[in-house]
Amino acid sequence: MSVDKPQLSVVVPVHNEAAGIAVFHKQLLAVLEGLHTPFEVIYVDDGSTDRTATLLHDFAKTQTVRVLCLTRNFGKEIALTAGLHEARGAAVIMIDGDGQHPVEVIPEFVAAWQQGALVVVGRRTKRRGALTKRAGSKLFYGLFNRALGLHADPDSSDFRLIDRSVCDQFKELSEHNRMTRSLIDWFGYDRVTISYSEHTRVAGSSPYTLGKLMKLAVDGAISHSTSPLYIAAYAGAGIMAFASLVGVVMTGNYFLNDPIGLHATASAYGLVLVLFLIGLLLISQGIIGLYLSHIHAETQNRPLYVVDKKRSRL
Ligand code: UDP
Ligand code: MG
Repeated sequence: MSVDKPQLSVVVPVHNEAAGIAVFHKQLLAVLEGLHTPFEVIYVDDGSTDRTATLLHDFAKTQTVRVLCLTRNFGKEIALTAGLHEARGAAVIMIDGDGQHPVEVIPEFVAAWQQGALVVVGRRTKRRGALTKRAGSKLFYGLFNRALGLHADPDSSDFRLIDRSVCDQFKELSEHNRMTRSLIDWFGYDRVTISYSEHTRVAGSSPYTLGKLMKLAVDGAISHSTSPLYIAAYAGAGIMAFASLVGVVMTGNYFLNDPIGLHATASAYGLVLVLFLIGLLLISQGIIGLYLSHIHAETQNRPLYVVDKKRSRL
């Protein structure tokens, strides 16, 4: 069941959160009811194998809660996207269902939105969780930003509010490998940042293994930059230039009867030739990479630009 015209939609992706979801739900409802605006909560069950779905169905007995069940585990980014597609509010909040994002901050998000913000981003001041994960995140963002020339903030999280207009634009993105937060950043709207300190999980453990995080990192890097495709070309050009230089010196030296005393053997000449050919191969791979990067951009099918309707005068 659902309310007719919610002002606020709250999207919660969940995967195997049966142990803590009831506590989270109670806290969330308490905060939302305190806002005195019509709201809806959309839980997206991302292929949970525990009792999560049953619990969610219980929550859905009240008017304000809707539950979207995916057939299997598609990953948080896709689950979040599914929830955003379903949301009908004038503002849409996305929040994790494990209790790590403090529900108490929601009124601040809403206040910022009411003052005109289109994108409100939660920024964690205190991070919990394993040291390896925090260090990994720092390393990832460091490399990500440097290599790809981006300005992603390691502490800004998925805990966000977006205006209806941004949500509608988000729905038009059709790429499959996606990272919701970086896509929202890609839109380029001014963002209002609200700091919060991250809670520990209500219960259970993060289903994100190191492997999944690595995949997320690679997906994020590839969907926001094509520079990895150029690595082969640059390496090839370097190797070819080096081999050419050595080749010229060796050949000149041979015809001048070895003035620098190289005593180069036949296999040394062969080696330089092989090095030259490897350079050539890498360069041609790089050329294929160039075409691939164009195809990649076309298949992502992103809009060419995003219009800020609020600021335009048309
Ligand atoms: N989640 C999901 N699908 C997944 C993994 C996680 O919907 O495949 C949900 C999870 O239940 C939680 C949120 O996404 O509500 C954040 O997950 P997690 O706590 O594992 O991420 P972290 O806090 O480590 O970023
Ligand atoms: Mg978490």
